[in-house]
Amino acid sequence: MAKARRGRKQHRRPSDPDAGDGGREHWRSDGTPKVAYGSADEANRATLQARLEHGVDLEPYTCGICHQWHLANRRD
Ligand SMILES: [Zn+2]
Repeated sequence: MAKARRGRKQHRRPSDPDAGDGGREHWRSDGTPKVAYGSADEANRATLQARLEHGVDLEPYTCGICHQWHLANRRD
């Protein structure tokens, strides 16, 4: 054997369960992260504001990835 390979750790990507469907709660379809709200209060306020200002019906939910709140478009 020429060179002993000393256990150099390769930066292996762990198989990412969020790469598929699971990440959608945090990422928009265009690949940018969704707006996050730190509390249910903030998220609810944003929901009301969106309804008043834009007439859109949004639904707050907690994100399993960043553990903050995002708004989902209910018409989707
Ligand atoms: Zn998130």
